Amino acid sequence: MLIKRETGFLQRFYLLEVMKGLFITTKNWLFSKNITIQYPEQRRKYSPLFRGQHYIKTTNGVENCTACMLCPTVCPADCIHIEAGERADKEKFPVRFEIDILRCCFCGYCEEACPKDAIKLSGIYEMADYERRVYDKNFLLIQRGSK
Ligand code: SF4
Ligand code: SF4
Repeated sequence: MLIKRETGFLQRFYLLEVMKGLFITTKNWLFSKNITIQYPEQRRKYSPLFRGQHYIKTTNGVENCTACMLCPTVCPADCIHIEAGERADKEKFPVRFEIDILRCCFCGYCEEACPKDAIKLSGIYEMADYERRVYDKNFLLIQRGSK
């Protein structure tokens, strides 16, 4: 539907509207605080609830994951793929643990479902890449720390 706007008498003198615009720009320039930052030297502090790049937590250098398959079961994007193996000392372990990060929607269900506090989402948000990435176990074992 076409909306027809009436131009007022004073608006027809465009100089007045230009002056108004300049006034608003100058006011913002002089009095408003900066909303941009000098990235990457400066970084914003994100909420502790932020969900970024995954990692698998380790204890004494051994992954906490016991390949229970709960995380691939709850993952709505079907992007976690695990191959379980037997370990002589105790529980199972993931021989292969992969996350197809392009499919991941960072819902955090995997982290919530994990009974071993193994799969974590860190505060890292710089995940841009030149090619499609599948995070393998070696990559996921790099400890990325908390948010
Ligand atoms: S954050 Fe969500 S979508 Fe991503 S791997 Fe975990 S469960 Fe799957
Ligand atoms: S839920 Fe935890 S322990 Fe189970 S397979 Fe996933 S990361 Fe491993």
